[in-house]
Amino acid sequence: MVETRAEDVMAAPVNIIVGSHVWVEDPVQAWIDGEVFKINGEEVHVQATNGKTVVADISKVFPKDTEASPGGVDDMTKLSYLHEPGVLHNLATRYELNEIYVRLIFSFPFHDLTWSNPTYTGNILIAINPFQRLPHLYDTHMMEQYKGAQFGELSPHVFAVADVAYRAMINEGRSNSILVSGESGAGKTETTKMLMRYLAYLGGRSGVEGRTVEQQVLESNPVLEAFGNAKTVRNNNSSRFGKFVELQFDKNGRISGAAVRTYLLERSRVCQVSDPERNYHCFYLLCAAPPEVREKYKLDHPKTFHYLNQSNCYKLDGVDDTEEYLATRRAMDVVGISEEEQEGIFRVVAAILHLGNIDFGKGEEVDSSVIKDEKSRFHLNTTAELLRCDAKSLEDALIKRVMVTPEEVITRTLDPGSAAGSRDALAKTVYSRLFDWLVDKINSSIGQDPNSKSLIGVLDIYGFESFKFNSFEQFCINFTNEKLQQHFNQHVFKMEQEEYTKEEINWSYIEFVDNQDVLDLIEKKPGGIIALLDEACMFPKSTHETFAQKLYQTFKNNKRFIKPKLSRTSFTISHYAGEVTYLADLFLDKNKDYVVAEHQVLLTASKCPFAAGLFPPLPEESSKSSKFSSIGSRFKLQLQSLMETLNSTEPHYIRCVKPNNVLKPTIFENANIIQQLRCGGVLEAIRISCAGYPTRRTFYEFLHRFGVLAPEVLEGNYDEKVACQKILDKMGLQGYQVT
Ligand code: ATP
Ligand code: MG
Repeated sequence: MVETRAEDVMAAPVNIIVGSHVWVEDPVQAWIDGEVFKINGEEVHVQATNGKTVVADISKVFPKDTEASPGGVDDMTKLSYLHEPGVLHNLATRYELNEIYVRLIFSFPFHDLTWSNPTYTGNILIAINPFQRLPHLYDTHMMEQYKGAQFGELSPHVFAVADVAYRAMINEGRSNSILVSGESGAGKTETTKMLMRYLAYLGGRSGVEGRTVEQQVLESNPVLEAFGNAKTVRNNNSSRFGKFVELQFDKNGRISGAAVRTYLLERSRVCQVSDPERNYHCFYLLCAAPPEVREKYKLDHPKTFHYLNQSNCYKLDGVDDTEEYLATRRAMDVVGISEEEQEGIFRVVAAILHLGNIDFGKGEEVDSSVIKDEKSRFHLNTTAELLRCDAKSLEDALIKRVMVTPEEVITRTLDPGSAAGSRDALAKTVYSRLFDWLVDKINSSIGQDPNSKSLIGVLDIYGFESFKFNSFEQFCINFTNEKLQQHFNQHVFKMEQEEYTKEEINWSYIEFVDNQDVLDLIEKKPGGIIALLDEACMFPKSTHETFAQKLYQTFKNNKRFIKPKLSRTSFTISHYAGEVTYLADLFLDKNKDYVVAEHQVLLTASKCPFAAGLFPPLPEESSKSSKFSSIGSRFKLQLQSLMETLNSTEPHYIRCVKPNNVLKPTIFENANIIQQLRCGGVLEAIRISCAGYPTRRTFYEFLHRFGVLAPEVLEGNYDEKVACQKILDKMGLQGYQVT
């Protein structure tokens, strides 16, 4: 076998001469191509094809593959030059032809290697969102083609990834996982749905009538989307929660159970929406339900509800909310949510809308409040009616707090601002309990297979985020991505190293960005940011300022932590994907995970079994001692458990890319895409693949392809291995190994 190293992606090669076709950096296009017409020491003068003349340092000039196939290549490692502009150009060329998938294979096991049957490990599928329906790409005919096809025989596709994961599971009895990542709107959820559809096709029971496990699994998607997705500026159907679906298979390779785990639903959206976004879909589709339903719940146009009218967006292009309501009900039927339960669910959704319309006015006493007017009173009564609780108790739960001290019981009133806060807290708690209920219901209804030996997990989780203002949510999201990046590094490096050791190939361990230090900064116990945040939350006198000061003090010498100049409450973390500055202002509030005792009492007493079921009575001791529970720590544990699951599986990676921010087809924004490839670790993987020996050919293949360079060797009747060595010597090639 002859392994050759590609040109290093990051370091420009030296063989640039006058007349070379090259790529040079451009502030607008990221990279433009042209021809070198002068070289002056380190300075290269390029006549770009767009008419510009550019002078660039030789280290920033990369050779262009002039013989590249006009339609691009389906596997990045087939590129002559594996550098950033080459990778980008290849993606752009293919995207133009609606070829939205490209794969990057960065490691092969060396033995038994044939191009048609490599062991499918260590590759990434890059998927660029087409922003248009491409039905032929996903139809049954396509699924049939991919079923059991040799890997590499057909174009890269999500089906190929799922197929390989499924075969590996069947043949080796190992669990597999498919990790789908990318920024908001990149196509993770759509990709996940295609994966699940294909796996259901492979592992389904053909000919079985009625509600099958695989149908239930597929129909759980629209249910979760109705309650967990919303229109944002980045995506009209943005998932506001992370999701890991575990498909369990029996010994015959049939789907026998499934479990859905969800992560951190965005709670604030329930009562706070900024223009032109929307609240969760379920609110709008319920307002568009058939008239008898709307009457029953006293619903009107979404613009009449405070939780919806903070934004002027009510409708989504191309979406009929009435149809969505009916589709959600049908999906609920399939999943196994009873008619009664569905009634309960929508009653609670309607109650939240009415709750949001209760306003408060100043009461007669200092710091007290009253229900503002008749309109608010109507909504208070309706909320109570829908939740089947007492209207007076609801009113008290909103505007009063009971304090129990050893000596006495004191009732305190809330000012109008605090009462509105209490109302919103109730709405958020009820909604997130409702969402958790749905997830539990889906799991119990589909059922788990205790005998299942192997599973395929599909992860659809938020990608790295860095906005102008970043808060606790971004902190958790980026923490997740650090974890996943570490998993990726460990997998790739461990695998590469093992292979090289096995084949006794010289291998200097290549440096990579180890992010253990960022993870320590965030999650180390004691002393990490999450631990310090919990401490601050438990200490009654803390404020966001004291919390920030504590961070500054503790991490002043940490090279991953930066205190921005002039700021008193923000802090910057140097993540693997770049620096992100977080505003600590709401960290304490957002980290506290508690239900107001009065709200708990109110709903536990509800006469509606469904609503009461969302608030099971607390066990004796925890109602007495106000045991502190934090969102950050809970999330950390959830992630730990997710990583344990992932570590026991063979991973496959899909990196979704969003080609533009206007969500339109055919627009390919270079700089934007490069940034995503960087954050998703794709460029890093390319660097790894270059540092290793990505191009591997059998002696026969090598002679066949390169024999023309030394015809005398071919004629010389040598042993294949010797012949290869002679050709390599003749050409004076470096960066290869013969094994
Ligand atoms: P978020 O993180 O906000 O949930 P996401 O990565 O899950 O984003 P999706 O909801 O999957 O993004 O995709 C956004 C939109 O892009 C879809 O609603 C759809 O219009 C379009 N889209 C994505 N993938 C495809 C595809 N393969 N074919 C056609 N359209 C697609
Ligand atoms: Mg999504």
